[in-house]
Amino acid sequence: METKATCPYCGVGCGVLIEHDGARITGVRGDPEHPANFGRLCTKGATLHFTARPETRLLYPELRDTRGEARRRVGWDEALDSAAQRFADVITEHGPDAVAFYISGQLLTEDYYVFNKLMKGLIGSNNVDTNSRLCMSSAVAAYKQTLGADAPPCSYEDFAETDCLMIAGGNPSYAHPIAFRRIEDAKAARPDMKIIVVDPRRTDTAATADLHLPILPGTDIWLFNAMLNVLLWEGLVDNAFVRAHTEGFDALREHVREITPAVAAEVCGLGPKGADDIRTAALWWGEAPRAMSLWCQGLNQSTHGTHNGAALIALSLATGKIGKPGCGPFSMTGQPNAMGGREVGGLANLLSAHRDLANPEHRAEIARLWGVADVPATPGLTAVELFDAMHEGRIKALWIACTNPAQSLPEQERVREALARCDFVVLQEAYGNTESAPFADLLLPAATWGEKEGTVTNSERRITHVNRAIPAPGEARADWAIVCDFARKLGPLIGKPEAARMFGYAGPEPIFAEHAETTRGRDLDISGLSYAVLDGKGPQQWPFPEGAGEGRARLYADGRFPTADGRARFVVPTAKLTAERADARYPLHLTTGRLRDQWHGMSRTGKVARLYNHVDEARIELNADDMHLRGIRDGDLVRVKSRRGEIVLRAAASNEIRSGQAFVAMHWGSNALNSAGINVLTLREFDPYSKQPELKHATVQVEKA
Ligand code: SF4
Repeated sequence: METKATCPYCGVGCGVLIEHDGARITGVRGDPEHPANFGRLCTKGATLHFTARPETRLLYPELRDTRGEARRRVGWDEALDSAAQRFADVITEHGPDAVAFYISGQLLTEDYYVFNKLMKGLIGSNNVDTNSRLCMSSAVAAYKQTLGADAPPCSYEDFAETDCLMIAGGNPSYAHPIAFRRIEDAKAARPDMKIIVVDPRRTDTAATADLHLPILPGTDIWLFNAMLNVLLWEGLVDNAFVRAHTEGFDALREHVREITPAVAAEVCGLGPKGADDIRTAALWWGEAPRAMSLWCQGLNQSTHGTHNGAALIALSLATGKIGKPGCGPFSMTGQPNAMGGREVGGLANLLSAHRDLANPEHRAEIARLWGVADVPATPGLTAVELFDAMHEGRIKALWIACTNPAQSLPEQERVREALARCDFVVLQEAYGNTESAPFADLLLPAATWGEKEGTVTNSERRITHVNRAIPAPGEARADWAIVCDFARKLGPLIGKPEAARMFGYAGPEPIFAEHAETTRGRDLDISGLSYAVLDGKGPQQWPFPEGAGEGRARLYADGRFPTADGRARFVVPTAKLTAERADARYPLHLTTGRLRDQWHGMSRTGKVARLYNHVDEARIELNADDMHLRGIRDGDLVRVKSRRGEIVLRAAASNEIRSGQAFVAMHWGSNALNSAGINVLTLREFDPYSKQPELKHATVQVEKA
């Protein structure tokens, strides 16, 4: 038998056909009908069935009454009664802002929706944030500041239409392989198409580029501003478009006046040819009939990630290359359903359907839709703030779902201290051996890929209905069902009997229908979508309002933007550099990123032996000159120290790395390293608008261990 679903790894959102016998998953193949991948899968997607092994799964709830004792097996009723009582006690004694949910871009949209509704609609706090904060919140803020709404305007099909593609802060050949195959196909079909890659490392993506700009970490804004300087100087700005459809260009023009290619080349560390290369990039962009950008965490995971995105988007707006085939700014999400989380407002500062917490009318609309008196106005704690508050004792009960903060958040030791200080930690997970599991007072077994039904939205706004192929093992349950049961138990304990009405869903389908209703009349209106429509027509891109025949591949074709006056905005960026600067003690710029064959903290991919064929152990990649200077040889164990901690890794010589820089893949956690993970080294400083931490960069020293 075959069941339609999507790959649960990256934001490309490839369709898969799960092969199974009704009890066990036996294989997987790409769905030839899915518009994201047309049957293709990368190494990770093609080995998904090897991860579906019950022996690696959490099978039943486990609870402990006090820290230090072993958890014991309990039934679901006892588990959720206990959780409801502990949360109710904290809420009663300390108020609703003393509890929090930390959830995941890997949850299905329906799961996300009920978590968000429970915290904001029933408990009365906005303390619900997710690991998507670490992934795409800077892109969200950049879209909202410039285009007026969190809506990536492009589609994958634009890769085949564009004449100039600038990939900045991304390595799609590893991080989004099937999207990259489409870029390679486009280049093969039209060799005149120009590809520019902006990345400190000479990655496999950069190796395919017509022009690689190996800028120093954190200098992206200088590059984009210098390109705008050239576009202005060469008369390549579309003044008619700027006049008719935008605001704020004069201030940005004034700002970039002195940021010439020569100035930017110096700041970006591009060497003697740098100014010419920046000029070439600008001319290719400006002279191409169709130009588009593609970005990912290299821009987002920065203390100025929002302005990185805004400066890149400005190139599309200044040249009027948006809303047309092969044009526009396009952010990729790291996770499979970060977009779905954004749509339901599943972050501490958002509300459902792209509404804003700060807007009283938006709060009133959501309160009416949920049938509650109000939605609290105070923004909740974002990921880093949340764990800081827990460290200080202000968060006393935490519910984690489908993510592993003890491995993935920056300043890992501080995060682990925070978890240890929290009075009550619930972990809802498919796997029981993650780094966060030892901190859990209550472990709840969750269904995972192939075992539950719902929807996901990929990076091009395409919603897919994913189906359950087999039952979850043991007593594992769907995430939405766990949340709704908990909500119904919690409600009466905090004086909110309406919980029974609010969370009385019979399955995921009515949750989707309610979510779709909240979008009616909004920029992402999907009031025309249902499971039946998605099954009949296949995956669809939003918006898809009631009565629509199909989704929309491209936004802003009419030049109107979802701002109050319909005009897009130019933002004058704050041209900061990295939060940490290299010095004599910490002389190397460490950057982080993905491997081709691993995913996140490896709780899934780490179980597949063949996925270690590409890279088989944790290592730090260094330039040969830097190794020679320190007497380090390829394969030596080295001690890597930052201002926050140290880890031991094997050194690997790499010709992708410039002297003065180093690279460690983000995946390796304590399980893989047999010591602490990479995020012992990273820092928790974050962007002031998006609150996304600078996970991409830290300064380190490296010495032979
Ligand atoms: Fe899965 Fe992404 Fe690979 Fe597609 S490209 S198969 S979504 S990991």
